[in-house]
Amino acid sequence: MADGCVFCSLMSGDLPAQWVAQETDVVAFLPLPGSSLAPGHTLVVPRVHCVGVQDAAGDVLAAAMGMVRRVALAAQAALGASGVCVLNASGPGSGQSVAHLHFHVVPQWEDDPFLAWPEGRSGWVVEGDVAGALRGAFEG
Ligand SMILES: [Zn+2]
Repeated sequence: MADGCVFCSLMSGDLPAQWVAQETDVVAFLPLPGSSLAPGHTLVVPRVHCVGVQDAAGDVLAAAMGMVRRVALAAQAALGASGVCVLNASGPGSGQSVAHLHFHVVPQWEDDPFLAWPEGRSGWVVEGDVAGALRGAFEG
């Protein structure tokens, strides 16, 4: 648990939440009403405090993705969602609002024109062979 982390406080019971699931390694709950993008928009949060995908252990990510899948299936079964958009922001400059790893699972319906997927494109320029640079950064 990290001092001052709102998600750690929430999971320790210090703050109320609209729980969807509370398991050993990962929890799921609704965001605050004013920030919900769609009915059933759910946050999936590992119990262990890590900031983003960069510092999360593999088993933490696996548990989170397992819960993402279960929330997606629940949105389909309970809300009639035809799909979900899964969003994550990790690290400075990403738009991450709470510095504790979390995934947004946003139900989508084929007849609903709203899409949670971002429509903008970055204007940032990186010169050279981007795929080659990424390949070169892999260890092992
Ligand atoms: Zn935390």
